[in-house]
Amino acid sequence: MTDQNSPLLLTPGPLTTAPETRDAMLRDWGSRDTAFIELTARVRRRLLAVAGVEEGGDFTCVPLQGAGTFIIEAAITSLVPTDGKLLVLVNGAYGERAAKICALAGRAHAVLADEESAPTDTDALERALAEDADITHLLIVHCETTSGILNPLEETAAIAAAHGTSLIVDAMSSFGALPLDIAALPADAVVASANKCLEGVPGVGFAIVRTSVLEGSAGNAGTLSLDLHDQWTYMEKSGQWRFTPPTHVLAALDEALARHEAEGSVAGRGARYRRNCDVLLEGMRALGFETYLGDNVQAPIIVTFKEPADPKYDFEEFYRRLHDRGFAIYPGKLTKAPSFRIGCIGHLDASDMARAVAAVGAVMDEMGFRLT
Ligand SMILES: *Cc1c(COP(=O)(O)O)cnc(C)c1O
Repeated sequence: MTDQNSPLLLTPGPLTTAPETRDAMLRDWGSRDTAFIELTARVRRRLLAVAGVEEGGDFTCVPLQGAGTFIIEAAITSLVPTDGKLLVLVNGAYGERAAKICALAGRAHAVLADEESAPTDTDALERALAEDADITHLLIVHCETTSGILNPLEETAAIAAAHGTSLIVDAMSSFGALPLDIAALPADAVVASANKCLEGVPGVGFAIVRTSVLEGSAGNAGTLSLDLHDQWTYMEKSGQWRFTPPTHVLAALDEALARHEAEGSVAGRGARYRRNCDVLLEGMRALGFETYLGDNVQAPIIVTFKEPADPKYDFEEFYRRLHDRGFAIYPGKLTKAPSFRIGCIGHLDASDMARAVAAVGAVMDEMGFRLT
């Protein structure tokens, strides 16, 4: 799927996009243009469909300008009231970040931490909710992009529902590629952004929220620009955005969502990423690399490989040489094990992954490091 001079981005986002998606940005829109108001409405509808629900039902979609972290911060501060308490499930940097948001925003919170290589312990979750009656909300990171681990979303949602706890899902790196039906789970909110598995460009995030929950959230946020309730009511009333909309980013997302539908929606997108991941795993293992996670908990999104112990290996040089060959990989983010990551998501197919693995093999030969 190479179509440009820029390297293929084997990263968790921004990632490689289709030329049609980039081309969709080649005009200007006024924020009050009818065409742009329609575009906003269409994107909101399409995002609801990806989450398995329809417009006019129990859920609504609220887009928000900014990086993924902005929508997480908006969802936490808008949906968890000042007298609420959020339990954050942590097994990587994104869970940690959600806890930090609570601390800065002055929201009561607790953390249930697991090793970065272990999925959320649902027995421990069950106990934590039974023991602390103050907990009103729960946040899970569906795919923890730090390691690439898949957390047990359905089981967690069932436990939250049994305890009457409101569930917020950070589905940033899984939305559009891994099945998620917000009504069936059930969850009160799912948040994600344009530039991961939907293959849009960066600059906008969104929350799919239970309308009744959003209705009761007025005044919670404590900030102006990250107030989801205010963003929603303004958009419902006028069809327009509060503050300057990311017009071109939204046009790209509209095209990216049309392509997502044409590919067979979540099932089609997920199947392509699964093949990408299989080719990557098989090829890298044939070269001698070891994965950090067991295959049973590995999501087909991004793979963490252990760094070679050979002193001839150096990440910066490895990265630069791969980049020269047209592939951008990603540094590791684990707190303990030295590692690097290769993403399987974006406008990439199995042949791209095979070429990436071949490039890794060639760079290994050039650098002369061995894997034992
Ligand atoms: C990418 C990501 C985010 C948000 O990241 P930004 O860099 O702010 O866009 C949050 N959670 C997860 C799980 C992610 O993968």
